[in-house]
Amino acid sequence: MKKLLKIGLISTAVIALLASPLSAKKIKWRLAETWPSTLTPLASPPAKLATLIKKMSKGKFIIKVEGKEKHKAPLGILDMVKGGQYQMGHSGSYYWKGKDINTVWFTTVPFGMTPSEQYAWFYYGNGIKYMKEVYNKFGVYSYPGGNTGNQMGGWFRKEIKSVADLKGLKMRIPGLAGEVMAKLGVNVTNIPAGELYTSLDRGTIDALEWVGPGMDLKMGFYKVAKYYYTGWHEPASEMQFLVNKRAFNRLPKKYQVMLETAMKAVSMDMYIENFAASTNAWQKMKKEHPEIQVKTFPKPVMVALKKAADKIYAGYSAKNPKFKEIYQDYTNYLKKAREWSMMSQYYYLQTSKELESVK
Ligand code: CA
Repeated sequence: MKKLLKIGLISTAVIALLASPLSAKKIKWRLAETWPSTLTPLASPPAKLATLIKKMSKGKFIIKVEGKEKHKAPLGILDMVKGGQYQMGHSGSYYWKGKDINTVWFTTVPFGMTPSEQYAWFYYGNGIKYMKEVYNKFGVYSYPGGNTGNQMGGWFRKEIKSVADLKGLKMRIPGLAGEVMAKLGVNVTNIPAGELYTSLDRGTIDALEWVGPGMDLKMGFYKVAKYYYTGWHEPASEMQFLVNKRAFNRLPKKYQVMLETAMKAVSMDMYIENFAASTNAWQKMKKEHPEIQVKTFPKPVMVALKKAADKIYAGYSAKNPKFKEIYQDYTNYLKKAREWSMMSQYYYLQTSKELESVK
């Protein structure tokens, strides 16, 4: 009798285990991304995340990735994740600037931090804490989703020799950087990625910024604009993963940990992937298109851009207390992180450059 009871108890336990959500229920999620699914490296983190999660969960947690060619709403990702049509999204936080200006802090800002400085602020400073606060009202969690590294300042059909050359120039440049350019008399427009080349070719715009050699080479901008300027406006553009809060909170704890760990891993991987892509693409550009002229804006132009950016930060700080709070925290962190960047990376790069000529 005792033995039978014992067997009975064991069987019940086994049945309970088999019926538990982890062993029996397959979880299927959908993720919508702003990019066409072929646009690597921006589209790489979601695809790699789906593969990793499937492997780690032994096929029990599946994330289906849908590119913009499927859902047709590249700038509707936040709304779709908030509404629950998709459990996850992959996009750029600064696209939601019209909903809340404070979302810009989690992509990049003009004259802001480099990727190492910004990752330090996110994970070991207050970055993630502020991101949680800002996104709370949307009913979503936001996480870092991969970095492009420091972006190039853009392709210009004519050389910019002075601040006066910017006046009346038509340029595609999004985010706070667009507001900075507008302050200097630039006519700023935002054009979808698919129409950029034609717009520049036909003279609808005189200049545009996109990302850097790795992504710009494929777009062919060098064919219609030969001046390629170094950057100031997007020093560390971080993409973002969005997760619907209700969906996340319903996940078994094990899968929550799995998802957060995998998101961090694929984000870091995109930063490395894009660095490698630009390293190779720049060598190809230099060799095959010697007509490309790499320029840095003259000092008076840089000074004017910096002053305009500072005015924009002051303007938003005066009317938005949360903006002021994050701006102060970000600026304080940047100041101390930059000292270390200078002592470590800058002086090393400078010394190495000087030593190149030593035989
Ligand atoms: Ca850009």
